[in-house]
Amino acid sequence: MNVLLLGSGGREHALAWKLAQSPLIAKFLAVPGNPGIAEYATCIDTLPLTDHDALVTLCLAEGIDLVVVGPEAPLVEGIADRLIAEGIPVFGPRRVAAQLEGSKLFTKELCKAHAIPTAAFGRFTEPDEARAFVERHGAPIVLKADGLMAGKGVIVAMTVAEALAGVDEVFAMGGLGTEILIEEFLEGEEVSFFCLVDGETVLPFGSAQDHKRAFDGDEGPNTGGMGAYSPAPVFTPELERRTLHEIIKPTVRALADAASAYRGVLFAGLMITREGPQLIEYNVRFGDPECQVLMMRLEGDLLPLLHAVATGRLEEQAVPLKPDAAIAVVMATRGYPGDYPKGSRIGGLEAAGAIPGVKVFHAGTVRAGDAILANGGRVLNVAAVGANVAEARERAYDAVARIDWPEGFCRHDIAWRALGD
Ligand code: ATP
Repeated sequence: MNVLLLGSGGREHALAWKLAQSPLIAKFLAVPGNPGIAEYATCIDTLPLTDHDALVTLCLAEGIDLVVVGPEAPLVEGIADRLIAEGIPVFGPRRVAAQLEGSKLFTKELCKAHAIPTAAFGRFTEPDEARAFVERHGAPIVLKADGLMAGKGVIVAMTVAEALAGVDEVFAMGGLGTEILIEEFLEGEEVSFFCLVDGETVLPFGSAQDHKRAFDGDEGPNTGGMGAYSPAPVFTPELERRTLHEIIKPTVRALADAASAYRGVLFAGLMITREGPQLIEYNVRFGDPECQVLMMRLEGDLLPLLHAVATGRLEEQAVPLKPDAAIAVVMATRGYPGDYPKGSRIGGLEAAGAIPGVKVFHAGTVRAGDAILANGGRVLNVAAVGANVAEARERAYDAVARIDWPEGFCRHDIAWRALGD
């Protein structure tokens, strides 16, 4: 099978690593890829992911049998529709279904129409009405801009004053004529839950928890994610059963029409409240770095699973996941998520990867001759499996210690919640 992978982060390196292990793979291309992905695939970094015409032309010229889309933006922009129109199977939903991530209003209305548990909400086009709503409902309360905001479109206000001050800010994020959401604050523990969906059949692909804050103790600014682990101990089999029954399956059924059928991985951001699981948000792709920990746990061949999703032929079977725990520690350039320099040299990658159960994924690197240089904020994901979280964590931090990169930093407490420290 000829495969094209879209994306350039640690998530895509992890997908490439598993796909390359498949005996079914023939040609393997990546756009744009990264130095880690280049170990397995031919990387083409001259085509922007926004140039859908060029991507379609590439697929036709190379006889691509499956396109695996890593990030959300091309899906929200309709890359799957373009490829499907040419008869090319795609792992990732079409534009209509990608609104699950692209528009919070779309998701909230879908939840309302199908009685899917989520925070109660109001939608507003006028700041004065939004402020009156905040005054009526009090705090804590959550303000959200609609659309893809790269993790920056949400204000969780703990006081009414904070919420009132945030209203204009959230309106400004969305630009002219924007609509905002104001939501009930949900209290509980957050979990990410992943399912493969082929339009109809739903296969659970495990749970994970991540760490969004930059520094130890969940301090500092929000980031794209500084680490993750899987499985999430809080997500019991009973909670998984309820989530499938109350949230995931009703969503898949709501989109089941041919034009909107959901094909890809459905990533549910959940709050485990006292009343049970509630949906905070959907994403239409794997999480980053959650994907890395899921791939570390996956046994067997990823390629036929993704192809079955893309062609609507998933069978009711369990995704073969090791019972082991996996963890990923993100190494970032000092300064991230603010300004940071590029081009610092990274050593020790081979020594780190030589530790049993460890895999180092490239997230923001560039190759210069024999050297690997930092080329972004989040640069490496040091992932490890172990019989339990403690063992996985020890291995990951042993590997971090072997990486020679004075300009980098990481958190030292990834998975503290699972370990109770
Ligand atoms: P963006 O649109 O900016 O990319 P996002 O998709 O990350 O943001 P959400 O996942 O909806 O936005 O919210 C971000 C975070 O805010 C959540 O991970 C959660 O911690 C918190 N949050 C969101 N909604 C609620 C809620 N109703 N109650 C409590 N916390 C919430």
